[in-house]
Amino acid sequence: LHDRDGKIWMDGELVDWRDAKIHVLTHTLHYGCGAFEGVRAYDTVNGTAIFRLQEHTQRLFNSGKILRMKIPFSVEQVNEAQRAVVKANGLKSAYIRPLIWIGSEKLGVSPKGNQVHLMVAAWSWGAYLGEEGMKRGIRVKTSSYTRHHVNITMTQAKTVSNYTNSILANMEATDDGYDEALLLDASGFVSEGAGENLFVVKGGVVYTPDLSAGALNGITRNTIFAICQDLGLKLVEKRITRDEVYIADEAFFTGTAAEVTPIRELDRVEIGSGSRGPITEKIQSAFFDIVNGRNAKYAEWLTAV
Ligand code: PMP
Repeated sequence: LHDRDGKIWMDGELVDWRDAKIHVLTHTLHYGCGAFEGVRAYDTVNGTAIFRLQEHTQRLFNSGKILRMKIPFSVEQVNEAQRAVVKANGLKSAYIRPLIWIGSEKLGVSPKGNQVHLMVAAWSWGAYLGEEGMKRGIRVKTSSYTRHHVNITMTQAKTVSNYTNSILANMEATDDGYDEALLLDASGFVSEGAGENLFVVKGGVVYTPDLSAGALNGITRNTIFAICQDLGLKLVEKRITRDEVYIADEAFFTGTAAEVTPIRELDRVEIGSGSRGPITEKIQSAFFDIVNGRNAKYAEWLTAV
């Protein structure tokens, strides 16, 4: 990913892709205090547009606040940086990655006196869990790793270091031949995937774990809430157990990268018919209408590049 042409926005300017470098004594590299976003731009019917840009930028600033990292740019500048990288790299659709980190002025756990930096990169990225998975559904394994507790790492911050847990869970699941991991919280209730929120459908009602189970407050998750309302589907946030997922009619993951990915199995137990369920398909289709600019009701969620 590093050796290519293109531009990356770094601390206020567009630099050549290959020159977007940091020092090995960067504080975040040693202690893991940093935060990022994952954002998508779609090639919509009205041209390239970033989906829910404001919400993603706000979550980045929230992560900064939680981590006591003051971002040295305004919300408007960070929004503009994301538009600029998509444009500068000539991308019609893109995955956009803003990241804040602490500089290399000094080491030691306290970052006081170090500078906070910001970069934004963008590149093409297709279906995160595979095109086939989007149609047939993916196979998921309950992780032996527990999702972060709400008072150990901060689960509403999209912290760099939180992803060690996601990496371990994802590697364990994929090494065992599954597509993705499902993590439980410290009490054993379902939390989320390694990089996705979870939904299940039972008796025509859509359920998702409430955020006390430590899941990230996903922006796609919130988009699904709006879609459920539009489709007249009841949506309930509650504690969910792993066996409730086994006996659900349907299940799916959501995320900026994963979009709406159906789940066909958990721990080798078939969910419902063992393929993409009809309500999941409706929600997925409504999601792609919105992000591709085919639903005028949500035009304000798309920021033109
Ligand atoms: N949970 C985790 C751990 C994630 O990494 C992501 C992806 N950002 C999500 C949930 C989904 O969040 P969003 O819909 O905002 O991308």
